Amino acid sequence: ISQALRTQDIPKPQQNFVDIPTNFESGPFKPLLDSKPHAIVPLTKALEPFKDENNVPHHRHPYQTEIEQYEYPSFVYTQAEPIPYLPYETTTAIFVDTEDKVDEMLQELRKAKEIAIDLEHHDSRSYIGIVSLMQISTREKDWVVDTLQPWRRKLSKLNEVFADPRILKVLHGAFMDITWLQRDLGLYVVGLFDTHFASRALGYSGGSLAFLLKKFVNFDAQKQYQTADWRIRPLPQEMFEYARSDTHFLLYVYDNMRNELIQKSDFSVADHEKDKIHDVLTRSRDTALQRYEHPVYDAAQGLGAGGWYKMLSRTPALLNKQQFSVFRAVHQWRDQVARQQDDSTHYVMANHNIFTLAK
Ligand code: AMP
Ligand code: MN
Ligand code: ZN
Repeated sequence: ISQALRTQDIPKPQQNFVDIPTNFESGPFKPLLDSKPHAIVPLTKALEPFKDENNVPHHRHPYQTEIEQYEYPSFVYTQAEPIPYLPYETTTAIFVDTEDKVDEMLQELRKAKEIAIDLEHHDSRSYIGIVSLMQISTREKDWVVDTLQPWRRKLSKLNEVFADPRILKVLHGAFMDITWLQRDLGLYVVGLFDTHFASRALGYSGGSLAFLLKKFVNFDAQKQYQTADWRIRPLPQEMFEYARSDTHFLLYVYDNMRNELIQKSDFSVADHEKDKIHDVLTRSRDTALQRYEHPVYDAAQGLGAGGWYKMLSRTPALLNKQQFSVFRAVHQWRDQVARQQDDSTHYVMANHNIFTLAK
């Protein structure tokens, strides 16, 4: 894609958010909820802190009980003729950039039996990352939601649909989306069907959405836009179209995969041993139960996703004792600067430069 769509040299949208990220929070991540639609356990009770095995306090996943006790609707276990998607070329998506448009979208989503959801994310000029776009499709409509609006956290009202046990939520490879949704928008998914797990259960040779779109729709996904700078506004037409295509066909893809999963299952075997639907739903449930936590910097042990231990273990470069000290010091310095500037650690300094400096 053109360099213009990769630009990172634009004002930081997070500076206009009602809740500006600080990156120096202490204590557990507090879910961004002030109400809890479709609650079995009321909000205050669900948020009661607990301590993990290291005596560190956390808030629970606010929808833990609702997801654990969840029973998928019977239509997930029922074969049915796939419902055709509306033609792509002659339809478009509604761009949702006002609170009124969110309310209008919500009214329509309430009526759906199943919806498709996807997110686009920016992670270079932000310490924790920013959900930059949310795409939602029903059988009839596509919406592209601007999640860079100052009032973005008001989107938590969508829990009325996202946590509604009667509405199935179809996502592809939802692993990251689930934590992004709770971190930025206070959104939780009860009733997730992840088509990535369906690809696995069916033994497909590819696990990507592009593979599924080619197989079931003969649509060529323009995946080069995956790495565009999703903060660019106004959103360029080609990025808008790409974003829409990530959910437009997904319910039709789900229809086909659900049928094939049922067809290839043997429901008479004990313990769901040959039940492919059960396999997909169990993995989807576990994905939805993930919990976001503030990233902590572990200077001593270097543990965690952004820790120095992982980086060192992946690189064969041998450092002597002195170089190792410099390496750790620079690594910690980079983390501090990234938090202060609200940039990614990689934007502040590339990994290989830390090694070079240490040597
Ligand atoms: P997708 O669900 O494929 O649209 O991807 C969602 C987001 O994940 C994108 O907006 C990117 O921020 C990130 N992402 C996905 N694939 C890649 C990749 N190959 N390289 C970098 N970022 C990616
Ligand atoms: Mn995605
Ligand atoms: Zn996407």
